[in-house]
Amino acid sequence: KTTPETTDPSGDVRLTRISKRYGSFTAVHPLDLTVPQGSFFALLGASGCGKTTTLRMIAGLEEPTGGTVHLGDQDVTHLPPYKRPVNTVFQSYALFPHLDIFENVAFGLRRRGIKSVKKQVEEMLDLVQLGEQARKKPHQLSGGQQQRVAVARALINHPKVLLLDEPLGALDLKLRRQMQLELKRIQTEVGITFVHVTHDQEEAMTMADTVAVMNAGRVEQLGSPADLYENPRTTFVANFLGTSNFIEAEIDSRSGDEIVLRAGGGRLTLPGARCPAQTAPGGKVLAGVRPEKISLTHADDADAVPAGRNRITGRIADSSFIGVSTQYVIDSPVCSGFEVYAQNIDRDPRLTPGAEVVLHWNPAHTFGLDAAQDID
Ligand code: ATP
Repeated sequence: KTTPETTDPSGDVRLTRISKRYGSFTAVHPLDLTVPQGSFFALLGASGCGKTTTLRMIAGLEEPTGGTVHLGDQDVTHLPPYKRPVNTVFQSYALFPHLDIFENVAFGLRRRGIKSVKKQVEEMLDLVQLGEQARKKPHQLSGGQQQRVAVARALINHPKVLLLDEPLGALDLKLRRQMQLELKRIQTEVGITFVHVTHDQEEAMTMADTVAVMNAGRVEQLGSPADLYENPRTTFVANFLGTSNFIEAEIDSRSGDEIVLRAGGGRLTLPGARCPAQTAPGGKVLAGVRPEKISLTHADDADAVPAGRNRITGRIADSSFIGVSTQYVIDSPVCSGFEVYAQNIDRDPRLTPGAEVVLHWNPAHTFGLDAAQDID
């Protein structure tokens, strides 16, 4: 670890009823959020949802309309950016083109009047694996390397919190994937809090310990990547983090830990813990299931589907082979108005458009959502 303060609570970020209005438009509704010291936190959402505004309020680049920002015990709401123990890395690396990599990284130290910078700069360049590039100019580096210089330059001042605003947005997909792992490694090594803004769900899930999914100026759901993926609470979150199928169903009964649903004349079950609080018989529920959890069996082999699986019938409307698996679009009378997506790794040659199939899955992979909300 290059910083000794790994358990120092001053790296906690605490937003209390923080909000931002531009004229009559509310970009961020009053928001409470705590990011614990040392965590890798992602603000995830589509363009315009307020994630950058939230990040900029932590940085001090944007004055909140209401609420407070604390870093540890310190109320920094009214402190200018340079007095906050935070640093920001932007999508545009904003490196000094005429300075070499060493001097770009040394810049923050020199500005503070520190004379002997060599050891610290070398340590930082090693951290971002650019020790060999110290005497190059920014234009001689790749986009990913330039972004690593920007990270080193931000970290050299030993901020308590590093804010990253779509830092990988300008990189091509392959480089972006590499840099995600690289940033995660750097964060683990320095042990400070990272707050990362992105619209890329895969990026957020790869890197972050905790993800806040934002929608229209609000945090729609907060959790670990696995929790958000497995237990989305709204159709927005379910759809933002991958593809989901929704089957309109009605609660039939509760049996032990299981909820029994009626859907299109058939029955589905799901774990009670994964159903909305309102589970009275007759209540409407959307039963969600991820495509990769669904198996397809040709209707001729329907008897071979093991007992105890949730099952619905349908007809293949479309299929596309994508290498590791085949993706199917299914028309099912159980889901009027919806297409069902399924993904199979078996390559049964009979599973072509027009084929009648049974879709089946482990009931434990079903999640229930309140049907009163709109479907996106
Ligand atoms: P993006 O990924 O496109 O940056 P975002 O989720 O980060 O999106 P914000 O930049 O936080 O969104 O902006 C939230 C909303 O506030 C947007 O609708 C934006 O148009 C609006 N907004 C941002 N800055 C201003 C401003 N200075 N004046 C007026 N409206 C603004």
